[in-house]
Amino acid sequence: MRSLQRDESRARYDLLTLTSYDVTLDFRDENTFPSTTVIELTSRGGETFLDLKPVSLTSITVDGIGLPVDALHEGRYPLDLAPGEHRIVVEAVMGFRNDGEGLHRAVDPADGSAYVYQMSFMSAAPSVFACFDQPDLKAPYTLHVTAPDSWIVAANAAGQQVEPGVWEFEQSEPLSTYFVSLVAGPYHRIAGQHDGIDLGLLCRGSMASALEADADELFTLTGQCFDEFHRLFGIRYAFGKYDQAFVPEFNAGAMENPGCVTFREGLLFTTRVARSLRIQRATTVAHEMAHQWFGNLVTPTWWDDLWLNEAFAEYMGNRVTAEVTEFSEALVWASLARKNWGLTADSRPSTHPVAGTGALDADAALQDFDGISYSKGHAVLTQLAHRVGDEVFFNGVRDHFERHRFGNATMSDLFGSWEAAGAGDLGEWTSAWLRTAGLDRIDLDRDGGALVLTPPGGVATARTHAFSAATWDGDTWVTSDVVVGADRTQFAAPDQAAVVLDAGDTAWADLTIDPTTAAALPELMARTTDPLLRATIWNTVRNGVHHARLDPAAAVRVICAGVPDEEQDTALTSLGQWTGEDGEGARGLVHAKLLAVVAEPDDARSQIHDAFLARAFSAPMNSDLQLAAIQGALSTATDPGELSSFLDRGLFPALEIDAGLRWRALKRLTTLGATDLDELDRALADDNDAKTQISHAWCRARLADPDAKAWAWQRFTGEVDASNYEIEAIGTGMWQTGHDELLAPYVERYFDELPGTTSIRAGWGLADAALFFYPITAVAGETLARTDALIADPALNASMRRVLVDAGDDMRSRLRARERYVG
Ligand SMILES: [Zn+2]
Repeated sequence: MRSLQRDESRARYDLLTLTSYDVTLDFRDENTFPSTTVIELTSRGGETFLDLKPVSLTSITVDGIGLPVDALHEGRYPLDLAPGEHRIVVEAVMGFRNDGEGLHRAVDPADGSAYVYQMSFMSAAPSVFACFDQPDLKAPYTLHVTAPDSWIVAANAAGQQVEPGVWEFEQSEPLSTYFVSLVAGPYHRIAGQHDGIDLGLLCRGSMASALEADADELFTLTGQCFDEFHRLFGIRYAFGKYDQAFVPEFNAGAMENPGCVTFREGLLFTTRVARSLRIQRATTVAHEMAHQWFGNLVTPTWWDDLWLNEAFAEYMGNRVTAEVTEFSEALVWASLARKNWGLTADSRPSTHPVAGTGALDADAALQDFDGISYSKGHAVLTQLAHRVGDEVFFNGVRDHFERHRFGNATMSDLFGSWEAAGAGDLGEWTSAWLRTAGLDRIDLDRDGGALVLTPPGGVATARTHAFSAATWDGDTWVTSDVVVGADRTQFAAPDQAAVVLDAGDTAWADLTIDPTTAAALPELMARTTDPLLRATIWNTVRNGVHHARLDPAAAVRVICAGVPDEEQDTALTSLGQWTGEDGEGARGLVHAKLLAVVAEPDDARSQIHDAFLARAFSAPMNSDLQLAAIQGALSTATDPGELSSFLDRGLFPALEIDAGLRWRALKRLTTLGATDLDELDRALADDNDAKTQISHAWCRARLADPDAKAWAWQRFTGEVDASNYEIEAIGTGMWQTGHDELLAPYVERYFDELPGTTSIRAGWGLADAALFFYPITAVAGETLARTDALIADPALNASMRRVLVDAGDDMRSRLRARERYVG
């Protein structure tokens, strides 16, 4: 189906003014649901179309006159509306989905209960109700839902059950289609209140105890964030009540639907988690709250400004979490958990400017919705706020909210408000940071006594970088402020002294630890206590290996020296993911894996394992630090006997071993070839829930067995249907280093069969399956050649091409590092 074009959206905006939507849905069947939409509008006279993706269209009337249902084509229903007011009534049958978009329906294996939620972002609303699906045609919604008697239903506006199974909702404030949402099912709901705002927390019934355990923490930080946003923005939250729902099989981290935010269930903890996950959850809560103003109250006119939504929410979310909640180290977390995502994205062939990408249609915008929008956007807004000062920054933001309240606006509207508030001319800064793609690289030239700036592609960018450099003076780290703006900036590094650029983590640049510093760091890590400085060391070491400028063996030595006294569990988690096996940990391709490019991977793995184990033994029993260290030790374990002993509490007799740790150990045993399907089935039967089922699917795909690989492949090709979460687990599970012969046929089949998956998937699910099933462990020039050949095929789907460009970039990075350091 054709994605909405920008000029089409402008024409429709010029033609129509929407008055209201009235939507009636019935969830009593399992596969489909009836959907009736009444749209009141005023037309200025002309042809247009309605967006609608039903299983079948039952009827459509305009002003009471029936129109032929067979005029619906490719999700569009053509309309010719005379000048004046009109009432359009559409009756259709829609389908539930299991790819995380539209109305997603999932059945809980723990108790057989079904759960539904609506994810309209960014173009899935028409698979729920008939609409004009573009961000700048806002209207208030009135919703009516019939559902099984045992369900509760929550939506953007407040509602209530008026008789068993019948739910009526108040008319909402004006909403864009992309954030119209509801959740329905036998959800467990906990009510709260803060400053006159009714709060709700929801999750599936089988996770109720996890929600109850954390309700205080969630309500507390929600209240703290509301107070701070009210203070900073000077405008009260505008959407009435505020529900936060943890929903099954959610693709993103969360979605900011006004009054009805949806979160992935991984942010609700049924097993013990390290503090880094609590920080991630807190910053996500704050991020979605910031969107209630920036994105929901004032919405981008078109998708090309979506980056600004995310950059703003990311900046405010991290800042407010650090400043007003118990998670004061949120910025250290952001540095370790988010920054390399953006830096890597900005160094790829697919890099793009933060702003002004043009985004001709929604699909194109979705592809540019990446680490550059979030992480680089966050970095540049931090820079801007620092440059203009808080007073000007927030005066501009308040002016923006007041001018465009419940409406839409563009980036230039916001920058206009900032300039009017006293920011001065931001043109040059905008052009250097927002409209220029790529990373400046900054290297230390010791002999030349300079910092050397290399712009991306050799084209000067007019950017300046202000940061602090830390130099080891033999006793301690001494920092000095530097501004790097030209090709070379004087910087004298004492002979053989270690130097870490960007000690305060304020720069956005491609930085590498130089070999002299890398050699010195193993001695110095124990004396390096500043968490931001340590975060920068970990980031720059990782960046250097990714770009084949730092020997992976040197990185291993720094890790082995630093892990045993690392104080941030976020750092241990982040390093554990980097040093773990391909496919272990979510989204396996985000960074190259260290052990895929090191010369002696077995030795390196066992040294890193020992370092994590040492940290696990020295950390307080059952502490977050210990948990993160144990997770790192499990993912680098090589001895099945040790893993079995761990599970039997031989290693840590007083450790709480829950399903989270048990399945980590089982995954590692599977990778080591030390378990089989029978044992995995028994473990699942002992503790069968949505999470353990996904872990089991991962393990099954990883078994060194032709049947297991064939089983996995049937899910990729769609021969057997699988949900979005199963696709992720099975795709990342099946590829394993060392199983080259078993997997060789699937390398071929991936490139042959990938293009055909457009017939079974769409949207995020299409790109995600392409990513998760990419043969990342087949590190060979031939894999890269096949990748490049498919990228060059003009018939290839655009979102698949984007995935292949990035996956190919990771493959190229692995090959380059191996060539340089493995020989
Ligand atoms: Zn967001």
